[in-house]
Amino acid sequence: MFEPSSIMIAAIACAFGMTMAWWHQRRKLRLACADPGSARRSVSAVSELYDRFQAERDSRAEEQVLARRIAEERATRFERMFTSFDDPILVLDRHGEVVEANPAALAIAGLDPEQCVVDAVHPRDLSTMISNQVAAKEIHALSRNVVERGSDDFRRSVFELTDDGAEPSTRAFEAVIRTLDGNGRSLVVLHETTREREMARLKSEFVAKASHELRTPLSSIRASLEMLSDGELQDLDQRTEFLGIAMEETDRLAKLVNDMLDISCIEAGVARPRMRCVDVGALAKDVVDGLRAAAERKSVDLRLHVESGLVVDGDPEMLATVIGNLVGNGLKYVPEGERITVTVDAEDLTRSVVVTVTDTGLGIPPEDIDRVFDKFYRIKRYERTARGTGLGLNLCRNIVEQVHQGRIGVDSRLGEGARFWFSVPASHPASVVA
Ligand code: ADP
Repeated sequence: MFEPSSIMIAAIACAFGMTMAWWHQRRKLRLACADPGSARRSVSAVSELYDRFQAERDSRAEEQVLARRIAEERATRFERMFTSFDDPILVLDRHGEVVEANPAALAIAGLDPEQCVVDAVHPRDLSTMISNQVAAKEIHALSRNVVERGSDDFRRSVFELTDDGAEPSTRAFEAVIRTLDGNGRSLVVLHETTREREMARLKSEFVAKASHELRTPLSSIRASLEMLSDGELQDLDQRTEFLGIAMEETDRLAKLVNDMLDISCIEAGVARPRMRCVDVGALAKDVVDGLRAAAERKSVDLRLHVESGLVVDGDPEMLATVIGNLVGNGLKYVPEGERITVTVDAEDLTRSVVVTVTDTGLGIPPEDIDRVFDKFYRIKRYERTARGTGLGLNLCRNIVEQVHQGRIGVDSRLGEGARFWFSVPASHPASVVA
């Protein structure tokens, strides 16, 4: 808009012009004194000129007030933005000293934003704001560098800050350093990258584990197919056996890929659950009925206790996958002749529906209990008991917690069986029996 100095110059120039015009009119008035008619005309011209001068002066004053208000408004808005940014922001002066720091920057320096003042009168050394001294030096050098170049250029620097407190932690940051103005000041914005880095680490860990898991069935399929294609297997039984292995491994591969895809979709927030009113008891009955034959083959006593009429808002297919995985695990890991009990109850306190799958099998060792829901986690001592991918429980957790905002857990004592449970909010209070 208007610079206050240019408004002043314009006002002075205007006043000078008007004064000259007024002086000229006065002179004309003096000259016309001999002629009274001409004098009257001149007097009214002067007063008109004076009014115009006054009006002009008032309008200039109003413009000045407006310009000042706009400037103040801008400064307040900038101040508000500066303090509300989650990213730490620092302003360095021409000597590389910190002359502005937003609350986030004070917080990472361990300073109390309520108590600590950082400004041109109370500047701080950059090394007192960034505890990693190597990083502080580098940022200082880079800020001098961008200022000397005097362009819109910017520099980046990545560093870590370690907190040696009660719970030691390391946070990763990326600093973006750019010139702020023509007075040698620079702006340093610190963007925390801890989470992004952790995500990248988890992603590559997932890819490494997934590749490893995929390789096993693939090699098995390849070996079986090689035996069959070599023509060495004349015996029909042997050929059938190798075909069976190839089929089984293909199924395992397909399950692995499907579970990985389902987990990735849910974690990425792109899964499209088909939510509807689900009668959990009826759903559990269908799943259990489908597994009865497998239970009988293993002489496992499979029981179901259902409280009827318990309804949740959920994706029936996904919830069936959860119940199926929990009961399926029971069948895999309990020895012959044991018992698996599935119950569906209401939990009044949390107004949710709880499904519990309890078995009288081997139980889970205490050192493994917190990890069984992790991706690809399998309890070492049970690896020979049954085959698996280590993804089933992780998929269950994703379906329950991410898609249905429920909870999932396990209680177990080694040798005394396991009790897996999950709860999903009831779709309306009436569905929970009081
Ligand atoms: P998997 O495909 O290996 O069964 P899961 O994610 O379903 O993968 O389970 C992870 C691990 O938890 C299993 O490998 C097994 O060691 C253990 N586990 C799961 N259910 C039971 C259970 N009912 N009893 C004992 N161990 C179990």
